[in-house]
Amino acid sequence: MEIKSARFIISNTDVTKCPSGNLPEYAFIGRSNVGKSSLINMLTNKKGLAMTSSMPGKTQLINHFLINDAWYLVDLPGYGYAQRGKEGREKIRSIIESYILNRYEMTCLFVLIDCRHEPQKIDVEFLEWLGENEIPFCIVFTKADKLGPVRFKENVEAYKKRLLEDWEKLPPVFYTSSEKKQGRTELLDYIGSINDS
Ligand code: GDP
Repeated sequence: MEIKSARFIISNTDVTKCPSGNLPEYAFIGRSNVGKSSLINMLTNKKGLAMTSSMPGKTQLINHFLINDAWYLVDLPGYGYAQRGKEGREKIRSIIESYILNRYEMTCLFVLIDCRHEPQKIDVEFLEWLGENEIPFCIVFTKADKLGPVRFKENVEAYKKRLLEDWEKLPPVFYTSSEKKQGRTELLDYIGSINDS
Protein backbone atom coordinates (compact mmCIF):
# COMPACT_ATOMS: atom_id res chain seq x y z
CA MET A 1 0.00 0.00 0.00
CA GLU A 2 1.18 3.48 -0.80
CA ILE A 3 0.66 6.36 1.63
CA LYS A 4 -0.69 9.25 -0.40
CA SER A 5 -1.78 11.43 2.50
CA ALA A 6 -1.43 11.43 6.26
CA ARG A 7 -2.78 14.08 8.55
CA PHE A 8 -3.37 14.53 12.24
CA ILE A 9 -7.07 14.74 13.15
CA ILE A 10 -7.57 14.74 16.93
CA SER A 11 -6.09 13.87 20.32
CA ASN A 12 -8.25 12.45 23.07
CA THR A 13 -8.40 10.76 26.43
CA ASP A 14 -12.03 9.81 25.89
CA VAL A 15 -12.91 7.00 23.50
CA THR A 16 -16.41 8.41 22.96
CA LYS A 17 -14.84 11.53 21.43
CA CYS A 18 -12.83 9.65 18.81
CA PRO A 19 -13.78 10.45 15.18
CA SER A 20 -17.09 9.22 13.84
CA GLY A 21 -17.50 7.86 10.31
CA ASN A 22 -16.78 4.17 10.86
CA LEU A 23 -13.44 4.11 9.05
CA PRO A 24 -11.25 1.15 10.02
CA GLU A 25 -8.58 1.89 12.62
CA TYR A 26 -5.13 0.35 13.04
CA ALA A 27 -3.72 1.15 16.46
CA PHE A 28 -0.13 1.12 17.71
CA ILE A 29 0.85 0.54 21.30
CA GLY A 30 3.89 -0.35 23.37
CA ARG A 31 5.93 0.55 26.40
CA SER A 32 7.19 4.11 26.54
CA ASN A 33 10.34 4.58 24.46
CA VAL A 34 9.76 1.42 22.41
CA GLY A 35 10.02 3.47 19.20
CA LYS A 36 6.32 3.93 18.48
CA SER A 37 6.43 7.54 17.31
CA SER A 38 9.46 6.85 15.14
CA LEU A 39 7.66 3.89 13.59
CA ILE A 40 4.53 5.93 12.85
CA ASN A 41 6.62 8.67 11.25
CA MET A 42 8.52 6.07 9.24
CA LEU A 43 5.32 4.37 8.05
CA THR A 44 3.68 7.64 7.02
CA ASN A 45 6.90 9.15 5.67
CA LYS A 46 6.26 12.27 7.74
CA LYS A 47 8.97 13.18 10.17
CA GLY A 48 7.04 15.23 12.68
CA LEU A 49 3.64 13.54 12.49
CA ALA A 50 3.81 11.62 15.76
CA MET A 51 5.72 13.37 18.49
CA THR A 52 8.97 11.55 19.16
CA SER A 53 10.63 12.29 22.40
CA SER A 54 13.72 11.28 24.28
CA MET A 55 11.54 11.78 27.37
CA PRO A 56 9.63 8.54 27.93
CA GLY A 57 5.91 8.71 28.58
CA LYS A 58 5.30 12.04 26.88
CA THR A 59 2.45 10.89 24.66
CA GLN A 60 -0.49 10.12 26.93
CA LEU A 61 -3.30 10.61 24.48
CA ILE A 62 -5.18 8.67 21.82
CA ASN A 63 -4.03 10.33 18.57
CA HIS A 64 -5.91 9.80 15.31
CA PHE A 65 -4.15 10.24 11.95
CA LEU A 66 -6.20 9.98 8.78
CA ILE A 67 -4.41 8.01 6.07
CA ASN A 68 -5.34 8.20 2.37
CA ASP A 69 -8.76 9.51 3.53
CA ALA A 70 -9.58 5.82 4.00
CA TRP A 71 -8.40 4.63 7.40
CA TYR A 72 -7.04 5.87 10.71
CA LEU A 73 -3.69 5.15 12.16
CA VAL A 74 -4.13 5.45 15.93
CA ASP A 75 -1.27 6.23 18.28
CA LEU A 76 -2.18 4.93 21.74
CA PRO A 77 -0.47 6.06 24.95
CA GLY A 78 2.71 4.28 25.97
CA TYR A 79 2.24 2.02 28.97
CA GLY A 80 4.39 1.08 31.93
CA TYR A 81 6.34 4.22 32.54
CA ALA A 82 7.59 3.80 36.12
CA GLN A 83 8.02 7.46 36.95
CA ARG A 84 4.39 8.29 36.27
CA GLY A 85 3.28 6.89 39.65
CA LYS A 86 0.50 4.46 40.43
CA GLU A 87 -2.34 6.91 39.86
CA GLY A 88 -0.91 8.06 36.52
CA ARG A 89 -0.40 4.49 35.37
CA GLU A 90 -3.97 3.57 36.31
CA LYS A 91 -5.30 6.52 34.32
CA ILE A 92 -3.35 5.52 31.22
CA ARG A 93 -4.43 1.90 31.68
CA SER A 94 -8.08 2.88 31.74
CA ILE A 95 -7.70 5.04 28.58
CA ILE A 96 -5.99 2.16 26.77
CA GLU A 97 -8.47 -0.48 27.96
CA SER A 98 -11.53 1.55 27.11
CA TYR A 99 -10.24 2.20 23.58
CA ILE A 100 -9.27 -1.43 22.95
CA LEU A 101 -12.42 -2.96 24.44
CA ASN A 102 -14.97 -0.43 23.18
CA ARG A 103 -13.72 0.94 19.89
CA TYR A 104 -15.70 -0.98 17.32
CA GLU A 105 -13.62 0.52 14.46
CA MET A 106 -10.36 -0.92 15.77
CA THR A 107 -9.45 -3.54 13.20
CA CYS A 108 -6.01 -4.56 14.40
CA LEU A 109 -3.69 -3.61 17.22
CA PHE A 110 0.07 -3.57 16.61
CA VAL A 111 1.96 -4.26 19.83
CA LEU A 112 5.53 -2.96 19.69
CA ILE A 113 8.36 -4.79 21.40
CA ASP A 114 11.95 -3.53 21.60
CA CYS A 115 14.01 -6.38 20.12
CA ARG A 116 16.90 -5.72 22.52
CA HIS A 117 15.08 -6.75 25.68
CA GLU A 118 14.13 -10.08 27.17
CA PRO A 119 10.37 -10.68 27.51
CA GLN A 120 9.09 -8.21 30.09
CA LYS A 121 6.29 -9.17 32.47
CA ILE A 122 4.25 -6.10 31.59
CA ASP A 123 4.30 -6.91 27.85
CA VAL A 124 3.61 -10.62 28.29
CA GLU A 125 0.67 -9.88 30.61
CA PHE A 126 -0.66 -7.31 28.17
CA LEU A 127 -0.51 -9.82 25.29
CA GLU A 128 -2.31 -12.39 27.45
CA TRP A 129 -4.99 -9.85 28.26
CA LEU A 130 -5.47 -9.20 24.52
CA GLY A 131 -5.87 -12.92 23.95
CA GLU A 132 -8.39 -13.30 26.76
CA ASN A 133 -10.44 -10.48 25.26
CA GLU A 134 -10.13 -11.82 21.70
CA ILE A 135 -8.54 -8.66 20.38
CA PRO A 136 -6.96 -9.04 16.91
CA PHE A 137 -3.30 -8.07 17.20
CA CYS A 138 0.16 -8.38 15.68
CA ILE A 139 3.59 -8.17 17.27
CA VAL A 140 6.08 -5.65 15.89
CA PHE A 141 9.72 -5.94 16.94
CA THR A 142 11.35 -2.49 16.81
CA LYS A 143 14.90 -1.11 16.57
CA ALA A 144 16.22 -4.09 14.58
CA ASP A 145 19.25 -2.02 13.52
CA LYS A 146 20.42 -1.85 17.13
CA LEU A 147 21.43 -5.52 17.10
CA GLY A 148 23.55 -7.60 14.75
CA PRO A 149 21.63 -10.21 12.72
CA VAL A 150 22.65 -13.11 14.97
CA ARG A 151 21.68 -11.42 18.25
CA PHE A 152 18.50 -10.14 16.66
CA LYS A 153 17.44 -13.63 15.59
CA GLU A 154 18.34 -15.09 18.99
CA ASN A 155 16.32 -12.46 20.83
CA VAL A 156 13.30 -12.78 18.60
CA GLU A 157 13.33 -16.58 18.79
CA ALA A 158 13.62 -16.44 22.61
CA TYR A 159 10.68 -14.06 22.69
CA LYS A 160 8.52 -16.26 20.51
CA LYS A 161 9.45 -19.30 22.60
CA ARG A 162 8.34 -17.49 25.75
CA LEU A 163 5.01 -16.58 24.15
CA LEU A 164 4.45 -20.12 22.94
CA GLU A 165 4.51 -21.26 26.59
CA ASP A 166 1.10 -19.60 26.86
CA TRP A 167 -0.14 -19.72 23.27
CA GLU A 168 -0.81 -22.45 20.77
CA LYS A 169 0.25 -20.25 17.89
CA LEU A 170 1.64 -16.79 17.40
CA PRO A 171 -0.10 -13.82 15.83
CA PRO A 172 1.54 -12.23 12.75
CA VAL A 173 5.01 -10.88 13.60
CA PHE A 174 6.84 -7.96 11.94
CA TYR A 175 10.47 -6.88 12.18
CA THR A 176 11.17 -3.17 11.88
CA SER A 177 13.78 -0.47 12.08
CA SER A 178 12.66 3.12 11.74
CA GLU A 179 16.28 4.08 11.26
CA LYS A 180 16.67 1.81 8.21
CA LYS A 181 13.04 1.92 7.04
CA GLN A 182 12.87 -1.82 7.54
CA GLY A 183 9.46 -3.50 7.72
CA ARG A 184 7.57 -0.57 6.21
CA THR A 185 6.32 -2.34 3.09
CA GLU A 186 5.39 -5.47 5.04
CA LEU A 187 3.35 -3.57 7.63
CA LEU A 188 1.58 -1.35 5.12
CA ASP A 189 0.81 -4.27 2.81
CA TYR A 190 -0.62 -6.19 5.75
CA ILE A 191 -2.92 -3.28 6.60
CA GLY A 192 -3.81 -2.98 2.91
CA SER A 193 -4.66 -6.66 2.70
CA ILE A 194 -7.10 -6.40 5.63
CA ASN A 195 -8.61 -3.18 4.24
CA ASP A 196 -9.20 -4.81 0.85
CA SER A 197 -10.71 -8.01 2.21
P1 GDP B 1 8.10 6.21 21.78
O1 GDP B 1 8.23 6.77 23.17
O2 GDP B 1 7.71 4.77 21.81
O3 GDP B 1 7.26 7.02 20.87
O4 GDP B 1 9.59 6.17 21.17
P2 GDP B 1 10.33 7.14 20.15
O5 GDP B 1 9.88 6.88 18.75
O6 GDP B 1 10.28 8.55 20.66
O7 GDP B 1 11.81 6.54 20.24
C1 GDP B 1 12.52 6.46 21.48
C2 GDP B 1 14.01 6.53 21.19
O8 GDP B 1 14.43 5.42 20.41
C3 GDP B 1 14.41 7.77 20.38
O9 GDP B 1 15.66 8.21 20.85
C4 GDP B 1 14.51 7.25 18.94
O10 GDP B 1 15.42 7.98 18.15
C5 GDP B 1 15.00 5.82 19.17
N1 GDP B 1 14.53 4.92 18.11
C6 GDP B 1 13.24 4.67 17.77
N2 GDP B 1 13.16 3.77 16.77
C7 GDP B 1 14.44 3.44 16.45
C8 GDP B 1 15.02 2.54 15.49
O11 GDP B 1 14.36 1.84 14.71
N3 GDP B 1 16.39 2.46 15.48
C9 GDP B 1 17.18 3.18 16.33
N4 GDP B 1 18.50 3.01 16.25
N5 GDP B 1 16.66 4.03 17.24
C10 GDP B 1 15.31 4.16 17.31
